[in-house]
Amino acid sequence: MSLDQKIADVRILLDKVQTDYAPAVFANSFGAEDMVLTDIIARYYPGIEMFTLDTGRLPEETYSLMREVAERYGIRVPVYFPEPAAVEAYVAQNGPNAFYDSVELRKTCCHIRKVEPLKRALRGKRAWITGLRRDQAPTRKGLAESEFDADNGLQKISPLLDWNLSDVWAYLKQFDVPYNALHDKGYTSIGCAPCTRAITPGEDVRAGRWWWENPEIKECGLHPDKRRKAVATRLAADM
Ligand code: SF4
Repeated sequence: MSLDQKIADVRILLDKVQTDYAPAVFANSFGAEDMVLTDIIARYYPGIEMFTLDTGRLPEETYSLMREVAERYGIRVPVYFPEPAAVEAYVAQNGPNAFYDSVELRKTCCHIRKVEPLKRALRGKRAWITGLRRDQAPTRKGLAESEFDADNGLQKISPLLDWNLSDVWAYLKQFDVPYNALHDKGYTSIGCAPCTRAITPGEDVRAGRWWWENPEIKECGLHPDKRRKAVATRLAADM
């Protein structure tokens, strides 16, 4: 399918979201995929809101991109922060970089800095839009373009699900969309600074995220791994 056709399909889906699921909101992480959606939503969908999560550990380049987006599109994307008391308690008990010590401590940090603020940002909305792509990770293979997100109680829409990475970069180049400067330094997927590194040619696109963990299970909690849930459900049914 051509890029033009893929863009047309995104527009059809977002038209429907804007009318059928208002109020809908786009969770913008300012990654490459999210810059495609930023460009489309900022230009054509004034009825779809945006927000971003500032974990307090983002790389400087992401803040620079936020500023660039504000200048380019004339929008200031609302920012949700973690609860200060929760961050202070976690750091006091575990230290500032405890996410390297165990999967549990890493997931707790992600919960405090991402999952809880996300739930606040989604409150009162009927749908949220993400830039997830199916081939980003094993944990994302079973996603649907539009599905009910039972964890958050609203519809979850992933318009770029069947785009590949070349489509994303072709779009950004064709429409001269700003992007995170770290992408030019080997970073394919960008999150918090201490949990993201550049990858080398041939590595999986998400190999630079939580690189010390098993790739089969790593997710931050914003997009729970449905395969694990399905297995858990089957196990529970078998008991
Ligand atoms: Fe904490 Fe790392 Fe998760 Fe960011 S990505 S919230 S620093 S564990």
